[in-house]
Amino acid sequence: MNNFEITTPTTLVFGKDQLPRIAQLLQSQAVDGKVIILYGGGSIERSGFLDRLKAELSDLELHFFKGIEANPEYTTLMKAVEYIRENKIGFMLAVGGGSVIDGAKFISGAVNYDGDPWEVLDQVPGKVFTSAVPFGCILTIPATGSESNSGAVISRSELKEKRTMGGPLFFPKFALLDPTFVATLPKRQIANGVIDAYTHTMEQYLTFKGENLLQERYAEGILSTLIAIGEKVLENPADYDLAANLMWCANQALNGVLRCGVTTDWATHMIGHELTALHGIDHAQSLAIIAPRLYEVKFESKKAKLAQYGKRVWNLEGSDDQVARKAIAKTEEFFHKLSVKTRISEYTSDYHETAKIIHDRFVQRGWLGLGENKDLTPKEAEYIVNQAI
Ligand code: NAP
Ligand code: FE
Repeated sequence: MNNFEITTPTTLVFGKDQLPRIAQLLQSQAVDGKVIILYGGGSIERSGFLDRLKAELSDLELHFFKGIEANPEYTTLMKAVEYIRENKIGFMLAVGGGSVIDGAKFISGAVNYDGDPWEVLDQVPGKVFTSAVPFGCILTIPATGSESNSGAVISRSELKEKRTMGGPLFFPKFALLDPTFVATLPKRQIANGVIDAYTHTMEQYLTFKGENLLQERYAEGILSTLIAIGEKVLENPADYDLAANLMWCANQALNGVLRCGVTTDWATHMIGHELTALHGIDHAQSLAIIAPRLYEVKFESKKAKLAQYGKRVWNLEGSDDQVARKAIAKTEEFFHKLSVKTRISEYTSDYHETAKIIHDRFVQRGWLGLGENKDLTPKEAEYIVNQAI
């Protein structure tokens, strides 16, 4: 088992009718009584949630920043940064999905940053966020785990870039996970959430066999649960218990526990981010496109774990080789059952240069060896993308 450290400082409040608890947590966090509510395109207005929240928080001086889009945009977030600086706001409440919460993490670091905060995402040597405006969140879509981890992914469409950031400064102080939000989610977003959570688990599971036996069983539990409930939540998003199980799976898939003592991959995410940056393909769709092809290309090094996955999660039988191959097919079939397509050409016709562009970007960034073995080269990334067309 690898050495590891884990800190999970975010207070999770899970369940329905918990707004009074959030009011208490906010009262204790927002020392000067000022809070800015950051949110997305308006789903929380349409559902009536924002009005309920305002009523619950009537003792606080509330400010609002609307319009953080899916794949949060640097230019939008910088407007929030300006507003927070001008109004000297010391606490933020992000209400939304991974995009709003990730956006809050960027804003949190950028408010007190001297210079252009994009430098940090561009990994300019020596440029780091050194302080963070504290924030809490109310999660409205189970998917990313961002509500209790410290990572974020920020887009800059003028450059067609999507970059990651994070660090211990960026854990939310608290997160409300209320499964009743799932009832208003479009089917596409539910399917995206299932696939993002599934792939987060796979990125931390499908590496070496036997590193941490408990973490393997834990990952298999999340994968099996997602398989059992995925289609059912799509059919019946108002079923509270199904929604609650999905929300908890998505949180557990990326709250830091699965990676304890194991070697992680993340190459599917790194390649997938480029598909979103270049073509606007949803995050989870990009993962559904890349994951099966990456498992095929990295078949030899992943075979032992793929076979274990096939036997334990899909109940497949046969030789390791056969089971491993069938397990990849089963995974892709699961994505299809959620109505998510797994080929780039099903999302865009502008794919002819995609693989080459990704190759060149990885070379330019010095990403010469991704994955658990640090051996997935830019050429291999190019091959995987070409295989995924
Ligand atoms: P999202 O981009 O936050 O939200 C997607 C859409 O769902 C938005 O249009 C949003 O509309 C809508 N929506 C959210 N909650 C809703 C509800 N209860 N009812 C109706 N509509 C609702 O989705 P996400 O999948 O959670 O986040 C994706 C982003 O997170 C990507 O940028 C991805 O790269 C990133 N990510 C982060 C991590 C991490 O660990 N930090 C991990 C994986 C991915 P409104 O805007 O109108 O609310
Ligand atoms: Fe993800």
